[in-house]
Amino acid sequence: MLRATELAHLLLRQVLVPGAIVVDATVGNGHDTLLLAQHVGASGQVFGFDVQQSALAAAALRLQGLPQVTLFHSGHERLAERLPPGAKDRLAAVMFNLGYLPGGPKELITRADTTLSALTQALDYLAIGGLVTLVLYPGHPGGDQEAAAVRSHARTLSADFGATHCARINSQQPAPELLVIERLR
Ligand code: SAH
Repeated sequence: MLRATELAHLLLRQVLVPGAIVVDATVGNGHDTLLLAQHVGASGQVFGFDVQQSALAAAALRLQGLPQVTLFHSGHERLAERLPPGAKDRLAAVMFNLGYLPGGPKELITRADTTLSALTQALDYLAIGGLVTLVLYPGHPGGDQEAAAVRSHARTLSADFGATHCARINSQQPAPELLVIERLR
């Protein structure tokens, strides 16, 4: 089955080269962080954000001290504050996997205001040709509003960016969606 998360991985492959600087904006248990770290290698850098200490602890175990990974116990809305100034205009990829952590507290969800703030900062740090992927979950309470806010924001982006939306159209239930934003110039 072609899931939104898998589509994101497929698209990211083209920009995840050894030495790339990338961000996992929602580390959770660290599955995506590990994938990013493997693709960029020891010469690359991965910066990860999450507000849940327990999730970061699980991610740190999975990442086994890979030196290219730096995890921040911090909201992604502090991206510009936390990233080194040298990362500006150099990010090859920023991944957002929104919603709540499977198996974690369902009230601890990402929220439209902080997600949009983080997205704006991510786009400001993106390299030309870089990609931001956002997996949106309109199926849970709060997720529908957040998904709508992210889609509306993406429609207003300048011609410096290309925003592409992938969503299953024959599902009865709201299915996860992928939004990809590319910096064109
Ligand atoms: N990619 C993860 C799943 C992410 S689930 C994996 O592969 O396991 C969404 C995550 O976003 C949760 O872990 C939640 O704690 C985190 N989160 C919620 N609000 C956040 C914020 N403002 N900044 C960063 N992370 C946040």
